[in-house]
Amino acid sequence: MALRVKCPTCRKETSWDNNPHRPFCSQRCQLIDLGAWTEERYRIPGRELEMNFGDDDEDEDSQNKH
Ligand SMILES: [Zn+2]
Repeated sequence: MALRVKCPTCRKETSWDNNPHRPFCSQRCQLIDLGAWTEERYRIPGRELEMNFGDDDEDEDSQNKH
């Protein structure tokens, strides 16, 4: 029985076994998380995280566009 965990970045369920990027679902999410704390740490003013998170259920920024 494969253990499944939720990716901290995209909240998608991913397998724990045979996953070199665990607890993340992919290297991309791993890098995004790394970038996130880097952003948090350096607090670059006026700069937004422009990475593409792919299929993301959270759409809270959609109203801020335009
Ligand atoms: Zn992920």
